[in-house]
Amino acid sequence: MRTIGLIGGMSWESTAEYYRLVNELTRERLGGLHSARCVLYSVDFAEIEQLQVQDRWAEAGEILAAAARALEAAGADLVLICTNTMHKVADRVEAAISVPLLHLADATAQAVRASGLRRVGLLGTAFTMEQDFYRGRLEAGGLDVLVPDAEGRAIVHRVIYEELCLGIVREESRAAYREVIADLVVGGAEGVILGCTEIELLIGSEDSPVPVFPTARLHAAAAVRAALHGM
Ligand code: GLU
Repeated sequence: MRTIGLIGGMSWESTAEYYRLVNELTRERLGGLHSARCVLYSVDFAEIEQLQVQDRWAEAGEILAAAARALEAAGADLVLICTNTMHKVADRVEAAISVPLLHLADATAQAVRASGLRRVGLLGTAFTMEQDFYRGRLEAGGLDVLVPDAEGRAIVHRVIYEELCLGIVREESRAAYREVIADLVVGGAEGVILGCTEIELLIGSEDSPVPVFPTARLHAAAAVRAALHGM
């Protein structure tokens, strides 16, 4: 079994899910008392969020690159950035290590393609929904990507930073997300990517008339497959 390196803390609410998922999926696969070999480097999210809003991505990238180097030094055979948004600095992280970085958009695009769908809605932070680093990678992976309108994007973004990253799950926010999803479906979405690792704490398949793609779960599953490859 290879050792999975997790760059987490963005937020720790979703990193806790990653930890649970890599262990659960390893046990499902190997049985008995098996659990995932993994190393976690968890950052202070307040520091990262400030760099995001100040558009200081190079500095944020340096913090994550240092985390990735520390994970490699601690024995990680592959590294995951446990947030969609911070894949904006994935190149910098990848360049800092000699083990593979398992890109979240690639794992997601692969899962969507495997389900036979192509045209998908994308929910995430404003950075993820509006910039090219993530959408572009999904499109390069063969998907057509739709995002909510400006009002929908603002709601989705606000709930992530003001509620979900603080561990707050509100029924009215779930209802608002359901409306945003319904609009995406009217616009032609055949599935919806929950492209922020906290959204699956709020939204499940029961909240959507089309299949949802929960990115923390898909990423954790891809990591376990990679770690157990050949076992
Ligand atoms: N975990 C979130 C994501 O997947 C948002 C937090 C962040 O800004 O990294 O995008």
